[in-house]
Amino acid sequence: LPWRAAKGQKIQPYHVLLSEIMLQQTTVATVGPYFQKFVQRWPSISDLACAHLDEILHGWQGLGYYARARNLHLCAKLISEELGGQFPEKEDDLKNLPGIGIYTAAAISAIAFGNPANVVDGNVERVMARIHALKQPLKSIKRQIRDLSAKISPPSRRERPGDFAQAVMDLGATICTPRKPKCKICPWRCQCKAFQNGLQGLIPARQDKKSKPKRYGIVFWVKHRDAGILMKKRPNKGLLGGMVVVPSTEWVGKKWSTKDAQNTAPFKTNWRPLPGVIKHTFTHFHLELSILAANVSKIGDTDDFIWIRPEKMHEIPLPTVMKKVVQHALKLS
Ligand code: SF4
Repeated sequence: LPWRAAKGQKIQPYHVLLSEIMLQQTTVATVGPYFQKFVQRWPSISDLACAHLDEILHGWQGLGYYARARNLHLCAKLISEELGGQFPEKEDDLKNLPGIGIYTAAAISAIAFGNPANVVDGNVERVMARIHALKQPLKSIKRQIRDLSAKISPPSRRERPGDFAQAVMDLGATICTPRKPKCKICPWRCQCKAFQNGLQGLIPARQDKKSKPKRYGIVFWVKHRDAGILMKKRPNKGLLGGMVVVPSTEWVGKKWSTKDAQNTAPFKTNWRPLPGVIKHTFTHFHLELSILAANVSKIGDTDDFIWIRPEKMHEIPLPTVMKKVVQHALKLS
């Protein structure tokens, strides 16, 4: 893994921080190229602190959960500017950094600084549940799993807590996988109660997944021959915070009528519907967007907006859903 220090190499706390934030909610395979791109472009935490947030969001596009990128930038600024470039080493201090929760603080403290810590991610939860043959859904036994993990976590620096944490997480990611765990080659098969009782396929208990709600919106695709496409920067907080988007109605639980949508448009003009819909799935909902388009010859009062030429779209931080909108609309308008 590109963020792991090779034998004899010094562990870079910056690399651990960056990889742990990128890996929140995202797979190792997806994170790999993003991690490499970031460390090439911003080799140190102070380089990242000096970058403009838009550049970081641009580098992050496609990875989703953009609050992570904003928090990463805040972390870098705080460490570089207020802590004199000194990384906090203790879990409690790390938890004070923006976007760093219990797991990430423990992982950074153990892996980057070799401190004893109870590092429990989703992989570790699954391994613990199987070793102890806990049949309840993971959500209901998180406390119990943390306690069990704490009991086997190395209590001192001498026992290499960082290596231990990474080894258990790797065991979960590569051997004790959610489906078809490879028990025959598992170093813990003699201790594992699930394996001994043939329960490894049933633990952790599957929870019925709630079906995701569907939301609908209409985007306003406005084209000016010279200025380009009308876009808008989202406020820094909330979904897609800080990213650039095509102006849109709110995203709501029922389809918009064209008349209602037009009442929320950036201005009054002759809107025409473009054929087709854009579908995108976020963590908590499915989204379906339709498009109302207009060509304008005057720029008028669009102070809250920005104009982007189509050939410059790749230079702005566009979330994946808006890339889909832009690609679709450019073909049709
Ligand atoms: S023996 Fe099988 S179920 Fe138990 S920890 Fe190892 S891989 Fe997981």
